[in-house]
Amino acid sequence: MGQERLLAKTVMVVGDGVLSDTFIEYVKRAGVGNVLVSGGGVCKSRTTETGNWKTRRNNEARSWENTEWDLGAVLDAPSREVQQVNRLCLQRRVPLIWAATDSGSFRATLCEGYRGDRPCAECYPRNDGASQTAGSFTLRASILGSWLAFEALKVLLDIRPSIECKIVHMEERRIEVWDTPLEKNALCVACAAETTNCSRPE
Ligand SMILES: [Zn+2]
Repeated sequence: MGQERLLAKTVMVVGDGVLSDTFIEYVKRAGVGNVLVSGGGVCKSRTTETGNWKTRRNNEARSWENTEWDLGAVLDAPSREVQQVNRLCLQRRVPLIWAATDSGSFRATLCEGYRGDRPCAECYPRNDGASQTAGSFTLRASILGSWLAFEALKVLLDIRPSIECKIVHMEERRIEVWDTPLEKNALCVACAAETTNCSRPE
């Protein structure tokens, strides 16, 4: 059953702003068992507290290196942390949702660079988004955060397609949404090595 499967899942979120706050809120409400909220190489769990579902509590900070998760999310996260989490997701062969907002636009994609045909978060240089200042674009960021939470649930429950192999763009003033295809970069320093050195079992 979907709800029980979600309860067994862990999502790791890096980001500091309305986008990540809204994402975390909706992922928790949907019943994902463990939400780790991270920054600077450590994470703390924010456990789901819903109705009759059992909860787990662990407020200790743990290093990223010592923590397992089923899905990562870097939402308006600093580039350095995007890189760190991307490398860990590649090593562990788990998907990563990347999203960034800047003045007037939004971009998001699902990274699965551990697969030979899918890009990772470092395949192309990107501006990883300005951190949100209080009050700016909060309505848009909260709408997008809840939508990304929905995409996260789909990925956790293996419901496809999600937003893999493309970047979804939104331009705010014209309320326009479109996507552009995204292929793996064969020269990517992060995922090209990861997949050619593919000795891990599926
Ligand atoms: Zn890559």
